[in-house]
Amino acid sequence: MSTLFSLAEEIRRCTSCPLWKKRTLAVPGDGNSKTKIMFVGEAPGVEEDRQGLPFVGKSGKFLNEMLNLVDLNRKDLFITGAVKCRPENNRVPSAKELQTCKELWLDKQIGLIKPELIVILGNSALKSLLKKTKLSELHGKIIMGNNQKYFVTYHPAAGMRFPKIKEEMKKDFLKLKSFVNLLY
Ligand code: SF4
Repeated sequence: MSTLFSLAEEIRRCTSCPLWKKRTLAVPGDGNSKTKIMFVGEAPGVEEDRQGLPFVGKSGKFLNEMLNLVDLNRKDLFITGAVKCRPENNRVPSAKELQTCKELWLDKQIGLIKPELIVILGNSALKSLLKKTKLSELHGKIIMGNNQKYFVTYHPAAGMRFPKIKEEMKKDFLKLKSFVNLLY
C-alpha cells in the first residue's frame, strides 16, 4: 500500500509530463501527514526546484507571514503544489500538465491524508482541483466539491507583489482561522 513517503519517491522519478525534463528536483510536498488541513499552491519556483521542498523561496516567506498572522504553524499542515516540477521560467502550468499531475499524484496525496479542509492557493490550484477560474469571486469562501471542503485564496506570489491582494489575503486568512478553529 502506498504511503506519502513512497508516493514522494515515485514523484521524484516521474516522467509523465514534459515538466520533468527541466527540473532539478521534483517537489512532492512537505509537512504533517496526519493534518486536517492541506495547502495546495501552483508549482515549484527556482528555490523549491533547488531544494526539493515547497514554499521555501520568497513566496514561502510570504506564506509564513500569512500563517503567522493567524497562528497556524507549517509543521501542523501539509503543503504541496498542483504540479510537482518547475515549469521553465516560472510559466503557468498548462491544463494538460495540471490534469496529469493531479490524476497521478495530487489525488493520491489527498486520498492518503484525507484532510478536512484543502486550502487552494491561487488560480492553478483552483483550476486543478475544482475546474474553476473566478478566483476573485471565490476567494475567502468555503466551497464544497467532490465530497471535499475547500477554502480559496490567492497565491502568495500575487500577495507578495500586489498590496491590494496582500490585504485581501490577510482578510482571507483571518476567515480561514475561524474555519480551522471549528476543526479542532
Ligand atoms: S509535474 Fe507531475 S506529472 Fe509532470 S513530471 Fe512532474 S511529477 Fe510527473
